[in-house]
Amino acid sequence: MTTTQKITKVPFVDLGAQYQTIKEEVDAAIAGVLKSTAFITGPDLKKFEEEFAEYCGTKYAVGVDSGTSALELILRAYGIGAGDEVIIPANTFIATALAVSFTGATPVLVDANPTTYNMDVEKIEAAITPKTKALLPVHLYGQPADMDAILEIGRKHSLLVFEDACQAHGARYKGKRCGSLGEAAAFSFYPAKNLGCYGDGGAITTNDPQIADKLHKLREYGQTEKYIHAEIGYNHRLDTLQAAVLRVKLKYLDAWNQARREHAALYSQLLADSGIGIPAVPDYAEPIWHLYVVQVQERDQLRQKLTEKGVYTGIHYPIPIHLQEAYRNLGHRKGDFPVTEQAADHILSLPMYPELTDEMIAYVVEEIKVLHT
Ligand SMILES: *Cc1c(COP(=O)(O)O)cnc(C)c1O
Repeated sequence: MTTTQKITKVPFVDLGAQYQTIKEEVDAAIAGVLKSTAFITGPDLKKFEEEFAEYCGTKYAVGVDSGTSALELILRAYGIGAGDEVIIPANTFIATALAVSFTGATPVLVDANPTTYNMDVEKIEAAITPKTKALLPVHLYGQPADMDAILEIGRKHSLLVFEDACQAHGARYKGKRCGSLGEAAAFSFYPAKNLGCYGDGGAITTNDPQIADKLHKLREYGQTEKYIHAEIGYNHRLDTLQAAVLRVKLKYLDAWNQARREHAALYSQLLADSGIGIPAVPDYAEPIWHLYVVQVQERDQLRQKLTEKGVYTGIHYPIPIHLQEAYRNLGHRKGDFPVTEQAADHILSLPMYPELTDEMIAYVVEEIKVLHT
């Protein structure tokens, strides 16, 4: 796309631009659900689950009401609870930890690898105790975690391995989709995710028929059939309206991810000699660039100046989990996870969404180069 107008503003994401490209299809899908009134577990939900499982390369996908619920239900389905420990990265969105806490188990944090920002596989074994039940790596920013190394540690210590794939819809690790690599994986369809719905939504992928069956019960009051309750379950279903939107959007996901890849390549090319730290991509990874995250020494100053120039950026995430008030009880202090802490002070997420143009990226980089002296 070319434009002759001078660019003066680049939003961080632009959900409206994407809606315009699929408006007719989305509106028709929503109208279809309204007409059928099958708002709860309607046909679109089942179809979306089949399509999403096929996309991920798994036997099953179970739609739920958020990524956080997806994570919690995975842990519940495998019987994880009070007295157990689950190993997660220190450098992640807090929901990864919250889901562990909801079950009564304790999240045990592992610092980030300084090149990938994902969980440092060299530091996992030191965090394992007799209480450890599972490893829950995150494919942060859409960059696959080093799953073979993590699965190997899991095998060696008889631990379950799950994936927080909430930022990794379509990413590949050694050719295989994220979401198909562990026992089960959690996805979020929060609107700004690579595959996002128009509200909250999520899904769990797995190849295990018993776990899929258990998840169906857990997400719907623990019922085996209407008004027959085998266990204490939740109301954590994915709305049919959201499933209908997701069915439309799933068809475009690969093309949107490809556009993000091209944007990331252009950013990296243009920023190569700027003194800004650009993201590294390991050989095993085919990331989908949920976020394009750079490292900057004087991050807050640059961010402020960019905002004044109409370039909107983000920080993912500014306060690590172990320094949050909510997790004071874990007993950590500043200095416990130095890589994560240094990232929190220096990372900056640049505008990234499929509909960005080359001109917008050039403007962002130009402004960074002017301001970053
Ligand atoms: C978005 C996200 C979640 C939570 O998903 P919600 O749908 O917002 O509940 C969990 N983990 C990670 C890494 C995420 O990015």
